[in-house]
Amino acid sequence: MTPMRCCIACRKREEKSDLIRIVADENKNAIIDKNHNINSRGIYLCKDENCIKNLQKAIEKNKVKFKIDIEVQSLLNVLKELGEEIWEN
Ligand SMILES: [Zn+2]
Repeated sequence: MTPMRCCIACRKREEKSDLIRIVADENKNAIIDKNHNINSRGIYLCKDENCIKNLQKAIEKNKVKFKIDIEVQSLLNVLKELGEEIWEN
């Protein structure tokens, strides 16, 4: 059975492999775990521009509680990159 995870933005449950996985490194900096193989707790997000935007907004309004220790500014940078990547494709 494929593991299911919740998107942190829209709360929809999706197959883990269909979601973007973001983890924090030892300096709490956000990194995209492209191959889903970094041994660390992660947060999950749909590969969807709306979810990326909604998460950005929620962070800016200080409305998100993360279960992992992550530097919010680095997460915003990663989300910005992701948004640009999706826009290009
Ligand atoms: Zn979502």
